[in-house]
Amino acid sequence: MGRLEARITVLKGVGEARAKLLERLGIYTVGDALGCFPRGFSDRTQIKRISETALYEEAVVAGVVLNEPRLSRIRKGLSLFKFRMGDESGAVDVTYFNADFLRGTLAKGDEIVLFGRVEGDMLRRTMANPELWRGAEENYRGGLYPIYRLTSGLSQKVMRSVMERAVEYGVSEVEDPLPEPFRQRYRLEEKEAALRGIHFPHDREELERARRRLIFEELLTLFLGMRLLGRRARTERREALAAPVDMEAFYRSLPFALTAGQRAAIDEALSDMRSEVPMNRLLQGDVGCGKTVVAAALVYFAVKNGVQAALMAPTELLAAQHYEGLRPLLDRFGIRTVLLTGKGGAKERREKRTLIREGEADFVIGTHALIEEEVSFAKLGLIVADEQHRFGVAQRAALSQKGEHPHLLLMSATPIPRTLALMIYGDLAISSIRELPAGRIPVATTLIPESREEKLFGFLKTELRKGRQAFVVCPAIEEGEEGNALHTVEELTPYLRKKLPGISILPVHGRMKKEEKEAAMAGFAAGEVQILVATTVIEVGINVPNATVMVVENAERFGLSQLHQLRGRVGRGSERSYCVLVSGTRAEKSLERLRVICGTNDGFRIAEADLALRGPGNFFGNEQHGLPDLRIADLLTDTATIGEVERAAEELLDGGGLEAYPALSREVEKLFARTGGYLS
Ligand code: ADP
Ligand code: MG
Repeated sequence: MGRLEARITVLKGVGEARAKLLERLGIYTVGDALGCFPRGFSDRTQIKRISETALYEEAVVAGVVLNEPRLSRIRKGLSLFKFRMGDESGAVDVTYFNADFLRGTLAKGDEIVLFGRVEGDMLRRTMANPELWRGAEENYRGGLYPIYRLTSGLSQKVMRSVMERAVEYGVSEVEDPLPEPFRQRYRLEEKEAALRGIHFPHDREELERARRRLIFEELLTLFLGMRLLGRRARTERREALAAPVDMEAFYRSLPFALTAGQRAAIDEALSDMRSEVPMNRLLQGDVGCGKTVVAAALVYFAVKNGVQAALMAPTELLAAQHYEGLRPLLDRFGIRTVLLTGKGGAKERREKRTLIREGEADFVIGTHALIEEEVSFAKLGLIVADEQHRFGVAQRAALSQKGEHPHLLLMSATPIPRTLALMIYGDLAISSIRELPAGRIPVATTLIPESREEKLFGFLKTELRKGRQAFVVCPAIEEGEEGNALHTVEELTPYLRKKLPGISILPVHGRMKKEEKEAAMAGFAAGEVQILVATTVIEVGINVPNATVMVVENAERFGLSQLHQLRGRVGRGSERSYCVLVSGTRAEKSLERLRVICGTNDGFRIAEADLALRGPGNFFGNEQHGLPDLRIADLLTDTATIGEVERAAEELLDGGGLEAYPALSREVEKLFARTGGYLS
């Protein structure tokens, strides 16, 4: 067994306890550790003038101690070590808590360098517990310090030392999937150097070289995989759905008139479906714009043409909602709808599968259960994937294989720029619905600081007393995921119960058992639960018209599109709804982002602003596109590399394919396997 497969405990300083913590981050082996890239860097290379430091951001400052440092004991267990430090531009007041060991080590006139967060206001800057380096500015040699994702009980410092050891122990055994001539051709450094450079770069250039190499490799792997999946698609032909169908009869049966955008989307899809080339269309439209009824119209058309249709939803609850909403609509046209999920008895499910196989069911609504092996269709002609970003590429492909090149409609509320969509999905057609049905009351959105939370509880009480329901969303499940700075589901649930006695409050998060989670959501949908305290698991599709309040804690931690999705969970009924973003941040950039959400309800504009304002990090998240998890590449910002990689992938495939690159083809399989998909 190679060093990369060795369990992480081979590293000095990693015992069982620490290994358990690392496992929570998905790190079991030395190789896993190497593949766990930093999510950012703390740049300590640039020394800033004190007057030029931005408030609430980290900075390195250099200067002299201006007064004699003083140690004062505030009470038992709390002492303060204080002094003032200055450069030619200004001064900063420095405080250390319980740092008695500093006494006598620092004197007026000493030259020092400090690293930490600058706080205070324009008149007086302060730093608390900065890292201290003694000596003159000229001798200071800062660096780029990696910032890793953490879990409770694991500090950044420990994480860095584990990583340092993992690199030393294993990096020289990493196999390079890109052969030498290929690397030269595209000016890429070796994998080993890249791994060293991504974890512990000496300077920006080294980091950039490493990033380029790793991004290139990851995107290449992704594209090769996508090409292998998609290659067949372009040459497929199917029987056209050519029967004349009276669509007006369906439209007339609806309780409302379709919007122009809905009509256009239906017409575009119908003209695809009348041809022999299988439809491959993405329907984008903001939450609440009415995508479901578009899907229903296509189902009606398909079934009237003698084929079956399937609708795949990402959760049981959403599938059930669709079933309840769509069945009555289609029933009256003699269309037989069944719901197939992981629920229900084995016998019942078997009976349903028989109906599907024998063509007794025309329309099947379901979850992942649809792609199980035992499910086969008599004549599957149309597939709709709702909230498509929740499905892997391979899952969609698996469902497609149950028909003879069925038409495919992907639906998503997360708008993505056209160029990006084309790149991800290849020759995909896109329909966009840009307006909401008339008469909707826009959700009133406000941003409040954490200090105003008492008011918020008052407001919640008033709304609940009116019989309404509320969501409270937190960025984390349990304490410590991000160094205790965040509100968590586990902390907030009991807290809210105390603050709002007599109110039924339940938590929902991804680490709960599936049944528990669904029971809580179903209780909420039925009106028995008044507040759901949740992570973003509720982001997708749930429709509870009686819920009128969405509270998002640590709102600065969420991407704009994500916040918009969350807000879309309320404002679905006839009552006025509210979205309250709670944030303790004082960073101007974050506040600016949050104000965008308060200022508009237009998902397309928000997506654009998200792109324009995006700081570092992966706000859009690749999971939003149903792609395999990317570790380092960012499909929205790495555009220059993307072009290059696309050409490289084409060249590679034209020049004989992947056979000559065994290590690379293993990487392709691994990347898709990580999201549970497969390539066949
Ligand atoms: P989404 O696009 O987010 O999936 P839905 O399809 O769930 O939106 O539709 C949201 C709500 O709007 C549903 O209750 C639906 O019945 C209603 N709706 C859809 N189209 C119209 C329309 N043209 N006029 C009025 N209400 C509509
Ligand atoms: Mg929907």
